[in-house]
Amino acid sequence: MNFPRIIDFIRSLYPDRDFIPLHEPHFGGNEKKYLEDCIDSTFVSSVGKYVDRFEEMIREFTGAKCAVATVNGTAALHIALLLAGVQRNDLVITQPLTFIATCNAISYCGAEPMFIDIDRQTLGLSADALEVWLAANSVLEGESCYHIGSRQRLAACVPMHTFGHPCQIDRIVEICERYHIPVVEDSAESIGSYYKGRHTGTFGKLGIFSFNGNKTITTGGGGMIVTNDDELGKLAKHITTTAKVPHPWEFVHDMTGYNYRLPNVNAALGCAQMEKLPQILANKRETAWHYQEFFAGLDGVTYIPEPKDCVSNYWLNVILLPDLVQREEFLKETNKNKVMTRPAWTLMNELAMYKLCFSADLFVSRCISDRLVNLPSSVR
Ligand SMILES: *Cc1c(COP(=O)(O)O)cnc(C)c1O
Repeated sequence: MNFPRIIDFIRSLYPDRDFIPLHEPHFGGNEKKYLEDCIDSTFVSSVGKYVDRFEEMIREFTGAKCAVATVNGTAALHIALLLAGVQRNDLVITQPLTFIATCNAISYCGAEPMFIDIDRQTLGLSADALEVWLAANSVLEGESCYHIGSRQRLAACVPMHTFGHPCQIDRIVEICERYHIPVVEDSAESIGSYYKGRHTGTFGKLGIFSFNGNKTITTGGGGMIVTNDDELGKLAKHITTTAKVPHPWEFVHDMTGYNYRLPNVNAALGCAQMEKLPQILANKRETAWHYQEFFAGLDGVTYIPEPKDCVSNYWLNVILLPDLVQREEFLKETNKNKVMTRPAWTLMNELAMYKLCFSADLFVSRCISDRLVNLPSSVR
């Protein structure tokens, strides 16, 4: 494998740089102006116009009817799962190839993840594998679906749009509808990604986004719950803001709420970032195109492009090396040469907390995770 040639190519994409990070934030617009305005107004915390404006911008951009800003993506996912009806001892279907936040949020609900394989094209939950597993392992009773082996309720399904590539979300939603399993989309990585022209996160009962520092756009830390269900949208706002009953001076709370709101300073950053999102996406798309073209002419490396019928935000570009040995060698060489690359997350079913959870056959996840590398993908 010609590693020096690959390193030279990545350096040519990001010239004049010593260290090339995987993904750094890009601040090219009104960030400072809005932050200064925010500080001058003294509204830096739990109240302020930027939160409302940021939510409005996300509604407009994604086409979702409701958007509720949260302190991070994990908090958004926690609340989305609760609102989908996930309870203690339930099972929640998800994919093993995901960031730990997906499983953490399931655990916060007192539920357990169960793992179904991904597919090679999307790197997200496989609709085929989901359908096969449900047909053999679940039973419908009344309005709920149960796992035959454990008698636990299958309370939700959480597909993830991996590295920004949309999964087969329309088929997943269609299958889950047949089994009465609500879908919560972990679209943390996929702001600006579309499946058949519709924005990711808007197919399921609820969806979430993350605006952590390493994502496509950032609020420092932040997240968003989206839904097309007005009632759920209202409830999401209520429960993430301590469930306080509106009153000019009295403190009455009508349920156990969470202090998960996004501070106004973070939302100010979010507004400035949203204004730049179309340019950021166009820039990342061009970088992806360069990678795709380069790797098309290089034997032994497979570049994973956006799936059919999809527009990806190309959050992180992905390649597959021939095998684990060459993958390890590639990680060592690139990082030694100050070109930051990283492997896939350790599969969730291999972590100490989740290794006893139910799993379907995970053949594709294992193959992919042994060979996968993310390449530098910042705005250039
Ligand atoms: C980033 C991310 C989240 C949310 O992370 P936060 O850091 O809490 O914003 C959730 N799921 C996935 C798959 C992610 O990549």
